Amino acid sequence: MSLIVQKYGGTSVGTVERIQAVALRIERARGAGDQLVVVVSAMSGETDRLLGLARALHNPPPARELDVLLSTGEQVTIALLAIALQARGIPAVSYTGAQVKILTDEAYNKARIVSIDSANVSADLAAGKVVVIAGFQGVDAKGNITTLGRGGSDTTAVAMAAALKADECQIYTDVDGVYTTDPRIVPEARRLDRVTYEEMLEMASLGAKVLQIRSVEFASKYHVSLRVLSSFSDGPGTLITTEDNIMEAALISGVTLNRDEAKITVLGVPDRPGVASTILGPIADANIEVDMIVQNSGADGSADFTFTVQRNEYDKALAICQATSAQMQARVVAGDKKIVKVSIVGVGMRSHAGIASRMFRALAAETINIQMISTSEIKISIVVDEKYAELAVRTLHSEFGLAEE
Ligand code: ADP
Ligand code: ASP
Ligand code: MG
Repeated sequence: MSLIVQKYGGTSVGTVERIQAVALRIERARGAGDQLVVVVSAMSGETDRLLGLARALHNPPPARELDVLLSTGEQVTIALLAIALQARGIPAVSYTGAQVKILTDEAYNKARIVSIDSANVSADLAAGKVVVIAGFQGVDAKGNITTLGRGGSDTTAVAMAAALKADECQIYTDVDGVYTTDPRIVPEARRLDRVTYEEMLEMASLGAKVLQIRSVEFASKYHVSLRVLSSFSDGPGTLITTEDNIMEAALISGVTLNRDEAKITVLGVPDRPGVASTILGPIADANIEVDMIVQNSGADGSADFTFTVQRNEYDKALAICQATSAQMQARVVAGDKKIVKVSIVGVGMRSHAGIASRMFRALAAETINIQMISTSEIKISIVVDEKYAELAVRTLHSEFGLAEE
């Protein structure tokens, strides 16, 4: 008998009919003899709807109360699914995060799981029940409700799988696997049979929101066998696994797009030690995360300094930067919200030279101007004007032959 953790995302439980379809899928898996823990998201659009209500009253909403509010979305779905299962004669029991005791730290809206007490869940499984757990939520040591950040139900599922030592964690969504790029942007994108934890982590971090980043970190750390599949059709999906389990590493596995960044440039700062820390220190103090950084020294003894932040923190970061650069007598502070980050990811990059130049040549042929570049062992990212976002993704997808089998 296998123990499987299944997770169903918002679209997969978006209506009563979809919840019935999920119940049917669970019935089939049980028929095959598997023990099942099922993690569900809120019905599609619900988390955004609740967020809208809160923001209409107070923007940004107080973090603790926001978590009390957002966690209700998942509470609705666990009850509905447990009811749908019982309607089919399947013994099922629902649990909120607090009822399981998914203990998190106190960081409202972006809490991290600290430990999971799975004793009750194990007892229910042993008694032959399907256990339905609310994704995206936990409870801190003081009993406050917390949430794990957008897309956090993926992380609940993988963490439950790790805690229960499940045989597999299956993420059911509205695509039938992880694709070479977002199939909504490039219809020729191809489903990957397998992808390494490392590549998936980069892809998730660089904009492929099919899995929450934390869920991939957890899977990799605890060796959870993780599979992404469709709840709308049958198929093998994509297995996220170690490099040893992949026969032939692809040169490039995927292209990602991140529309969530903005760029800030400080021009004409004095070129001397400490400049980077003077500019970025106050940004870090304000808890703003910086992604890409570029500094150029000019011949005239001045330097230009550019960095990117998340778009929703742009206004705050720009204001801080304007204050610091006034003290430093920088020439200008400029900002640009209309940029995107496009990246290519692949473990094959480690053993092949010339990937970057091939990438830049392909973009130049489409007259796409590159504003910033950053690289790591298995990825290359560029920043371009937002208007080139989809063209850049399509160009790189075709340059590296990702649509071909
Ligand atoms: P769920 O609600 O089930 O959690 P999400 O919307 O979070 O679903 O994630 C699924 C979506 O991720 C897909 O509909 C797809 O548009 C998007 N996506 C982005 N990049 C990729 C990729 N490389 N492969 C598959 N899907 C991707
Ligand atoms: N409902 C939450 C969200 O929309 C969590 C999730 O779906 O994973 O972000
Ligand atoms: Mg998701």
